[in-house]
Amino acid sequence: MSAAMIDGKAFAGALREKIAREVAELKAAHGLVPGLAVVLVGQDPASEVYVRSKGTQTRAAGMASFGHRLPETASQAELVALIERLNADPAVHGILVQLPLPGHMDAAAVIDAIAPAKDVDGFHISNVGLLGTGQKAMVPCTPLGCLMLLRDRHGSLSGLNAVVVGRSNIVGKPMAQLLLAEDCTVTIAHSRTKDLADLCRRADILIAAVGRPGMVKRDWIKPGATVIDVGINHVERDGNFRLVGDVDAAAAEVAGALTPVPGGVGPMTIACLLANTLTACRRAHGLA
Ligand code: NDP
Repeated sequence: MSAAMIDGKAFAGALREKIAREVAELKAAHGLVPGLAVVLVGQDPASEVYVRSKGTQTRAAGMASFGHRLPETASQAELVALIERLNADPAVHGILVQLPLPGHMDAAAVIDAIAPAKDVDGFHISNVGLLGTGQKAMVPCTPLGCLMLLRDRHGSLSGLNAVVVGRSNIVGKPMAQLLLAEDCTVTIAHSRTKDLADLCRRADILIAAVGRPGMVKRDWIKPGATVIDVGINHVERDGNFRLVGDVDAAAAEVAGALTPVPGGVGPMTIACLLANTLTACRRAHGLA
């Protein structure tokens, strides 16, 4: 058996087109333009690439994009003052502070300075609590993208056994909350989990969000399972760098469906950021 490849790139492209149509409708019907502000502190090269890409895709969807840069040496108070200005700006519906922040800043305190309704990353403690209690929240983009791919493949997820490997606040935990809300039976695994391979073999849905290239092996997969590979790992071979996920390529011989890396979960993350910005705009104007 060879797994069906879940084409996250195509799915994300279709989602971005749908969002662009809805943005145009919102503008025509209500004169509203969703606006996303992205704040970058310092000059981390990877962050620069992400921020540029977010700006380009925001504009391509017909939304307003506001880029803000602060030097590496900026104080936390300066950053919070900028966030407070953006909180009060009616043209800004979503605020994203690009992580990681410089070491002298307390990322949790910075995130919690963002107005929860504008927290399009879904990292604010209020949104974490709302998601955990099954209420209307801003949902973190990467797990939201994974859920969309799973719903597209399975329709109902009710009663399925889901194993989430990884318990970070940005991927593993919110992913588990979303699957629980879909009535999956959810197990969260982490670095101290015993018999991880055994546990994974019981999963109808296996989410790998670890950051270890090829850690999930072929014989960890239940035949026919859907495997979502969140991992993004840069590995070097013969002087060339390439991207690989957390799931070994041979898993495709056993799984029913699998997200490739690259081209699986990755493209869904920015598309979901745009979806969250549109949602934030609608909610700000009582339209959702
Ligand atoms: P973190 O480093 O924050 O969390 C990794 C998790 O993996 C931790 O919970 C850790 O356990 C667990 N872990 C580490 N080693 C093992 C092991 N040997 N066995 C079982 N569990 C283990 O990473 P993130 O959640 O931020 O990201 C995970 C991966 O997803 C990374 O590759 C990242 O690049 C990628 N990513 C991809 C995105 C996308 O858009 N596609 C977006 C965000 C992340 P413990 O808690 O015990 O330490």
